[in-house]
Amino acid sequence: MSALMLNRPNYRRAELEAQRILDEMGVVSPPVNPVEIAKNLGVGVVFVTFTGKSRGISGFFDCEENSIFVNEEEFPLRQTFTVAHELGHSVLHGDWARSSDYQVLWRNPAEQYQDFREKEANAFAASLLMPRDMMDKYWDSLSAQQLSRLFAVSVPAMRNRLSNLYGV
Ligand SMILES: [Zn+2]
Repeated sequence: MSALMLNRPNYRRAELEAQRILDEMGVVSPPVNPVEIAKNLGVGVVFVTFTGKSRGISGFFDCEENSIFVNEEEFPLRQTFTVAHELGHSVLHGDWARSSDYQVLWRNPAEQYQDFREKEANAFAASLLMPRDMMDKYWDSLSAQQLSRLFAVSVPAMRNRLSNLYGV
């Protein structure tokens, strides 16, 4: 297998893992609470103030503490996505998170989207917060704004999901 193949994001696995967790926990209607899900999986969620150089960080997963640290100064909807994204690293990328080239989630991510693991964590977060079966029920009868309120995600995150799932 070529290095290129290895580095291609596996969106299907990210989506299946998110759905598996929702099924296990019996979550069947929006909004999905990723903090509750993390805690049910034994992963701590800690809201903290980052200082100095770390001010630009949205959050990160600490594998030694088995906890997600979230920037408490960011908007709640962004924090929700950050928790879901970091939970994706915890579920999908445990080995990598323990390695030295693991990177935290920066608020203004210019480079991180190059990394296939970042794309997978974002796909996991979108699938966890806006599951396909729940979206199927509502997407064509509600506006993006209404959907974003129902699913407790930002409008841009919802628009992105609508585009990926339904091409709208
Ligand atoms: Zn990340």
